[in-house]
Amino acid sequence: MTATRVLVLNSGSSSVKYQLLDMSDGSRLAVGLVERIGEETSRLKHSPLAAGGESRETTGPIADHDAALKAVAGELSRDGLGLDSPELAAIGHRVVHGGKLFTQPTVVDDAVLAEIERLIPVAPLHNPANLTGIRTARALRPDLPQVAVFDTAFHTTMPEAAARYAIDVETADRHRVRRYGFHGTSHAYVSRETARLLGRAPEDVNVIVLHLGNGASASAVERGRCVDTSMGLTPLEGLVMGTRSGDVDPAVIFHLSRVGGMSTDEIDTLLNTKSGLVGLCGDNDMREIRRRIDEGAEAPEGSERAQDAARAQLAFDIYIHRLRKYIGAYYAVLGRVDAVVFTAGVGENAAPVREAAIAGLESLGLAVDGGLNAVRSAEPRLISPEGARVAVAVVPTDEELEIANQTYALVRNGNTSNGYTSNGNS
Ligand code: ADP
Repeated sequence: MTATRVLVLNSGSSSVKYQLLDMSDGSRLAVGLVERIGEETSRLKHSPLAAGGESRETTGPIADHDAALKAVAGELSRDGLGLDSPELAAIGHRVVHGGKLFTQPTVVDDAVLAEIERLIPVAPLHNPANLTGIRTARALRPDLPQVAVFDTAFHTTMPEAAARYAIDVETADRHRVRRYGFHGTSHAYVSRETARLLGRAPEDVNVIVLHLGNGASASAVERGRCVDTSMGLTPLEGLVMGTRSGDVDPAVIFHLSRVGGMSTDEIDTLLNTKSGLVGLCGDNDMREIRRRIDEGAEAPEGSERAQDAARAQLAFDIYIHRLRKYIGAYYAVLGRVDAVVFTAGVGENAAPVREAAIAGLESLGLAVDGGLNAVRSAEPRLISPEGARVAVAVVPTDEELEIANQTYALVRNGNTSNGYTSNGNS
């Protein structure tokens, strides 16, 4: 029997998201999530899609990732999809930070684990959890290839001109300070799917990808290769996000420290979790922000509701202003643009964001057709008017499918050598 199933694991600090896919047809056999690991009220939600069964939810303490993965394995077994199945070809793990070294999905061995560990100082929130997930899965199925798929890998093609900060080269290199970029799995998938939507090869098109979720990033993709992206050393740089500030003058940090008396950790928390949309208006959900704006339109001038709407409107305007700056910047980086594409929660669903981001850019060949933009659909689609010089598109992202595809492509021919050689220079 050919093993065609891939389990995709996305291990966060207190959660594990998983999907089991059958790569013979890309179908999803099961999806689920374990939340609040380490708390009394951990929750496991499992949906056996293939079995057509009802979702099952269990709550109760799940002490650690080991217990979480064993619980997931138990749920999968109940549906006849257990981790001991000979049909399971590999487990694909999302790993947030792969530094400079990991340019491709990589079969995990001890050296790879050590390298991911070495990158913890540049990804303190993510890599430890990703490592725990890999180690736990490896212990459960030591014979099975475990594949690390890195958020940074797609961006390793960025030229030095885009990847380097203009700071002292020696200091930067000593501390591995450079622009790595994130959401790479999504940018890779969406840019390729956009080429498919246009009926062209990825190598023939230049695309600006706008991944607008709770975290948000833009990328400039030239003939299938990333040449610039908006996130940097960490996911804090770039666009305005749900809770992150995106770009600020670095001197803001010195100022808050010297004049505001804030500690480095306090400023870190401020910029990563209390800024962006939530910092500007108290909401990080674009649906809520639009609702406040719409409701305010009917409110009497000066009323509390009108003021509330004004705050939401300002947050929206700042979000859009930054987004438009990046569209313009990446237009110039690419020189010729074939498509601007929106993806992730906001990009796929928020028509007003797409409309405002593109408004008035006709001289760049960019326009949005109001009717097409208003259509709700889970399919990749064009929203630019017919005959437009540059396509504007909505392409739903699917990071799990991309991780599964990359994992399966690596192991399907029984090739489990990882081709990785450490040169200690990530
Ligand atoms: P994550 O970065 O957590 O993966 P997602 O890509 O799922 O995030 O995006 C989540 C965000 O998408 C929400 O915070 C919300 O702002 C936005 N969103 C989801 N659905 C809608 C919708 N129907 N309209 C507008 N915004 C939406």
